[in-house]
Amino acid sequence: MLSKTVDAFDEAFDVIVVGYGFGGAVAAINAHDAGAKVLLAEKMPNPGGISICSGGGLRLPHDQDGTLAYLKATNDGTTPDNVLETFVDEMIQIDDYVQDLIKVNGARIKRTERPGNYTFPGYDKMYFLQIDDIPGFEPKRDYAYANALSGGPYMFKVLQDNIASRGIEERLGVSAKRLITDGTGTVTGVWLDDGGGPKAVEAKCGVILACGGFEHAPEMQRQYWQINPVYTAAFVGNTGDGIRMTTDLGADLWHMWHFHGTYGFRHPDLPFAIRTKRLPDWVPGVREAEAPMSWILVGRNGRRFMNEYDPYMQDTGHRGMDRVDPMQMGQPYVPCYMILDDEGRALYPLGQTMFNDSAYENYEWSQDNLKEVQNGMIKKADSIGELAEMIGCDPEELDASVDRWNVSCDSGSDDLGRPPKSMVPLRKPPFYLAEVWPCVSNTQGGPVHDEKRRVINAYGEPIPRLYTAGELGGIWGSLYLSGGNLTECFVSGRIAGRGAAGEAAR
Ligand SMILES: Cc1cc2nc3c(=O)[nH]c(=O)nc-3n(C[C@H](O)[C@H](O)[C@H](O)COP(=O)(O)OP(=O)(O)OC[C@H]3O[C@@H](n4cnc5c(N)ncnc54)[C@H](O)[C@@H]3O)c2cc1C
Repeated sequence: MLSKTVDAFDEAFDVIVVGYGFGGAVAAINAHDAGAKVLLAEKMPNPGGISICSGGGLRLPHDQDGTLAYLKATNDGTTPDNVLETFVDEMIQIDDYVQDLIKVNGARIKRTERPGNYTFPGYDKMYFLQIDDIPGFEPKRDYAYANALSGGPYMFKVLQDNIASRGIEERLGVSAKRLITDGTGTVTGVWLDDGGGPKAVEAKCGVILACGGFEHAPEMQRQYWQINPVYTAAFVGNTGDGIRMTTDLGADLWHMWHFHGTYGFRHPDLPFAIRTKRLPDWVPGVREAEAPMSWILVGRNGRRFMNEYDPYMQDTGHRGMDRVDPMQMGQPYVPCYMILDDEGRALYPLGQTMFNDSAYENYEWSQDNLKEVQNGMIKKADSIGELAEMIGCDPEELDASVDRWNVSCDSGSDDLGRPPKSMVPLRKPPFYLAEVWPCVSNTQGGPVHDEKRRVINAYGEPIPRLYTAGELGGIWGSLYLSGGNLTECFVSGRIAGRGAAGEAAR
């Protein structure tokens, strides 16, 4: 076991940043710019974390008061007001900050008007900022290891070029194992392992943990979530290390139940779930869902049980599946079954892979879903009765479910709340079925922090010289704001970077 205190260190920096996603990169840049000698340590062979897989959209405010009102309402008392107030104070500066960062490589910013997902006060006072072009940069060529969405690699390139232009020391394949203290509880360094054995590295000012959440920590998920199993959608590097390292020093935890997720498919050769097609978000009472959704979901009993198309499906899509049935002593909707007909099958690709991992070959989902029919991820049948046999449910139940659904489509009204324009009848054989599983894009929980992004212990006191950045212990405790996680990487990276660098050197 690694000791918590050491007599001597192997080397020394002012600030050690653990994890090289957006959160770690912004923290390292800010600590450096505040005058610190920084080490940025990343455990995977390639940098970028989940961040590089993302859409790269930062959610930013037009109006500070409106945005604060929205965050207070959606966090529903789970995050203190002063933390949210500081968050919004910082959020309002991010547009200017990104304009500074892009000077490094001439990247182009794109802004898109988009309201928040839920109609609380202030929902219409925010927009999205992305990077959509960098001269000479080609994501697929320059980040061949990441099978990513369009925006994430662009924003990461801006951050990586800023790390490089400042000469910040980065080390890949170096894992933080445990925090080191001086015996009074003040953090003095980190045990880092590059594969050659742990080394005690001193942080004279402070440590910033930006090592993500517990997307790929099934044993931790099992303790904090009812729904099980849940598969990571993008990345296997985030295994809850930051939660272990901080609780070791007495950190309190928050928002552990909350994860950004939906439902998706499993490919036998991949540790990742493949999320279902991203249909546009809609805003209840304001913006209708216009896109057709070609499927319904049924449980093991052959009955529909949830609205398949929530307003922000990528975030809350899994929540309808989260039930333990005490009569069956099990989870009747994990997995559940996607049912569609031949017209629905031909409508669009049902899945899309995006992951950051060079160990696995990219899986390209076919345009017409026929490759997935051939490889068995989607099963085909001539009748609904045949699909029922595959599920193992009563054929009359499934027949009745499909009949009821078709009648609902004709009337444009669904008793489970499916948006009318998304309703597509299932009439044209052959019919198709796929197993569907809950999947996590990213987690929101982790150590509690104060407005200075200092980690807080179980008695409400800061653990000296310990900070977090990014999604590790994010502010999102109830309803998540799309684009909020990446904004949090910037907000928290700036706050923690300045804060750690500003501590008097030991
Ligand atoms: C497909 C997809 C799309 C998304 N799109 C958006 C979007 O458009 N907008 C938005 O706001 N959010 C989006 N999200 C969520 C968002 O991407 C993440 O919440 C955010 O990127 C997390 O950033 P981070 O820096 O905290 O963590 P990460 O980017 O995951 O970085 C953490 C890093 O820490 C490293 N690490 C872990 N443990 C250790 C250790 N012990 N030692 C050293 N290093 C360690 C990891 O390897 C990793 O590189 C999306 C998520 C997914 C999956």
